[in-house]
Amino acid sequence: MLDYLVVGAGSAGCVLAARLTEDPGVDVLVLEAGGRDSKREIGIPAAFSKLFRSEVDWNYDTEPEAHMAGRSVYWPRGKVLGGSSSINAMMAIPGHTADYDGWAALGATGWSWDDVAPVFDRVRASLRVEELRDPNPLTRAFVEAARQAGIPPSPALAPTALDGVRLTPVTQRAGRRHSAADAYLTPALSRPNLTVRTGAHATRVVVEGRRAVGVEVGAEVIQAREIVLCGGTVNSPQLLLLSGIGPAAELERHDIPLVHELAGVGAHLEDHLAAGLLVESRKPVTLYAAEKPLQLLRYFTQHKGMLTSNVAEAAAFVRTSPDAAAPDLELIFAPVLFQDEGLVPPSAHGFTVGAVLLQPRSSGMIRLRSADPLAAPAIEPRYLSYPEDLRTLVAGVELARRIVSMPAFAEIAGQEVQPGDEPVEDAIRNHAQTLYHPVGTCRMGVDAMAVVDPELRVRGLEGLRVVDASVIPRVPRGHTHLPTLMIAERAAELMRGRPAG
Ligand SMILES: Cc1cc2nc3c(=O)[nH]c(=O)nc-3n(C[C@H](O)[C@H](O)[C@H](O)COP(=O)(O)OP(=O)(O)OC[C@H]3O[C@@H](n4cnc5c(N)ncnc54)[C@H](O)[C@@H]3O)c2cc1C
Repeated sequence: MLDYLVVGAGSAGCVLAARLTEDPGVDVLVLEAGGRDSKREIGIPAAFSKLFRSEVDWNYDTEPEAHMAGRSVYWPRGKVLGGSSSINAMMAIPGHTADYDGWAALGATGWSWDDVAPVFDRVRASLRVEELRDPNPLTRAFVEAARQAGIPPSPALAPTALDGVRLTPVTQRAGRRHSAADAYLTPALSRPNLTVRTGAHATRVVVEGRRAVGVEVGAEVIQAREIVLCGGTVNSPQLLLLSGIGPAAELERHDIPLVHELAGVGAHLEDHLAAGLLVESRKPVTLYAAEKPLQLLRYFTQHKGMLTSNVAEAAAFVRTSPDAAAPDLELIFAPVLFQDEGLVPPSAHGFTVGAVLLQPRSSGMIRLRSADPLAAPAIEPRYLSYPEDLRTLVAGVELARRIVSMPAFAEIAGQEVQPGDEPVEDAIRNHAQTLYHPVGTCRMGVDAMAVVDPELRVRGLEGLRVVDASVIPRVPRGHTHLPTLMIAERAAELMRGRPAG
């Protein structure tokens, strides 16, 4: 029998595939619903939004959001080897030490900053993090303007000193995307004890008594000693619910027999919401020109030029109140007009400053839309359900305006496109978008709503873990890719009973 069956070859699944198969006596099978990561745009950093609504995207949309003008918000998620790390914006900023100490305080024993700092070091030994090769002149102007507005430079945007402004450190290798598949999975593929099946969509976890014994893929049942769900914040809770593991009332609504009652499955969905300040540029140097022949030539011959841009080229972390224990707002600079959730090409030369609410009070849930395992679940982030969240974002847009009014932008900033004449609150409700960091739907902890314990075992069952961004108890004040890799590194250590290597 297989030792480990890993469902999902995304950020976390790639780490587990690599770490668990370091032990030659252990057999691992990884099931991935998507295909191989051979699409050319995956490698080209500036092309990440070209992957939106493509075959490598689950292509989700939220339910209509009550406090967001009734809009359905577009939610990309990677459906391909590497998962969301194959389509993400490559920002390598794992948050603040207070995030991890906060997790431990919420009951996630073993996940404080002191516990996880060495695990992050292991991630950095496998995943390449580089400086941007060719930051845009407008991005340098943003860093200077932020400084002029009183935001100090940050040495590295590292958890121990997050406050301040800096060019974004990126998960790239020589100007190309370095995904979790590149860093972890691909180097392990030649091992005889690792099998990866693409196009394999897991539809149910099979439980006998109190023990998970296998996974259904269509009509086939695959058995394993231990099953690890790495489907991400949307799909892991969906798969648990489809398997009869979750809140009884939700399962009853879809005539799914109750296998194990677990009230928190799908609850506590948190995400980062981003509100944009969009301004036209008087200098024609933005990523609007990224696909011009000269840039294509520079990229394909030297791995340089605008196509190496991760779009979100700089970030500033600030505290909106002097009482805040850590930054509560991020401003992201993109030297392009990021319009309509990135789903349309820019209409002119311009730039975007995205204000990101780092510690939202609003939270929502993932539910089933139907018992059909291939149907998309219902995603309800319930953005802005607390008025404080809207107030902080308004402060963020106003701070972005102040930065753009600084001397460094004097010869650059043209007409404001958004909010423009619209009241800021309306513009946020009408245009704010996800920053793609959903977490929490299989939250770890020890309270009644926790789905997994601090060793990431599904509470009340044997042989079943969840290891992905869904176990995060509170969204970090940073970006979720590196934290997810850290979680998987630590999970591998817990499963093997010793550190990697
Ligand atoms: C557009 C975008 C931009 C982002 N930008 C950044 C950024 O700049 N910096 C940052 O830190 N974070 C960023 N993120 C977030 C970050 O990439 C994710 O938090 C992280 O990759 C999540 O990892 P995961 O392992 O939880 O899930 P994923 O990486 O999404 O992996 C889940 C995998 O499971 C597979 N799967 C799901 N269900 C099944 C099933 N039933 N059967 C088989 N396989 C299944 C999926 O196809 C996928 O491959 C971004 C995300 C997106 C989408």
